[in-house]
Amino acid sequence: RTVYVNGDYLPETEAKVSIFDRGFLMADAVYEVTSVLGGKLIDFEGHALRLNRSLSELDMAAPCSKEALLEIHRKLVELNGIEEGLVYLQVTRGSDGDRDFLFPGEETQPTLVLFTQNKPGLADSPASKTGIKIISIEDVRWGRRDIKTTQLLYPSMGKMMAKKAGADDAWMVEDGHVTEGTSNNAYFVKDGVIVTRPLSTEILHGITRKAVLRMAEEAQLKIEERLFTIDEAKAADEAFCTSASAFVMPIVEIDGVMLGDGAPGPIAKRLREIYLEESIKAAV
Ligand code: PLP
Repeated sequence: RTVYVNGDYLPETEAKVSIFDRGFLMADAVYEVTSVLGGKLIDFEGHALRLNRSLSELDMAAPCSKEALLEIHRKLVELNGIEEGLVYLQVTRGSDGDRDFLFPGEETQPTLVLFTQNKPGLADSPASKTGIKIISIEDVRWGRRDIKTTQLLYPSMGKMMAKKAGADDAWMVEDGHVTEGTSNNAYFVKDGVIVTRPLSTEILHGITRKAVLRMAEEAQLKIEERLFTIDEAKAADEAFCTSASAFVMPIVEIDGVMLGDGAPGPIAKRLREIYLEESIKAAV
């Protein structure tokens, strides 16, 4: 696999980052994940805008222009022959060659790393046909979840807890209300109304969430952005989650409680179809 590090395209075994890099020492880093379908990037613009927001919230310098980032994405997709898959981008605050809590001076260059994952069949995954099972866990993450940082230890632990419980993923709950999934935004549907938590610093502002809500509105579906409990979701007709890597993923079981007839719900299925069709058309 060819990866990108600070201006160079290299075999992954030759790519190097300092052990003093703040991304490694302190998770002082932000990232983006953009999916590739038909060899093209899905919603690159949305991801590039959110990256800039994450960087500016952390007073981190942008490593390069949006146009340059698009070119790097495209070149990696081409070099690795990706038809369906993902492009990961990470920007760290870099390093001035030692460990210090204080941010280094402005002369310190950010580290920019990109790599691809080849995922044939991503748009047509078996899980999207059967739906997935989730559990609920307490949300103990930090308070700025709207910034897409690489602090992914708790989401990893959540996915391990789900696996041990025989489930596929976990939704997190804080003060009695669902925040989001470990790596996705959370929704349920009751009596034809789609319910999801409103944007705030408590959740990531999903790029897929934004697109799916716009498409749901265009399809005249009813949407309520409000806080909700896990019990409301368990009593729902259907549930689903959204992310750049899973698109719209139906959920058929929450904490062992089967939703509806245990098959993906009609609204989740329809939104997945609309999302894939429209975003493939608009891919770059
Ligand atoms: N929420 C969290 C915590 C995430 O990690 C992600 C994606 O990684 C999402 C939501 C979904 O965001 P997006 O649709 O931009 O992939």
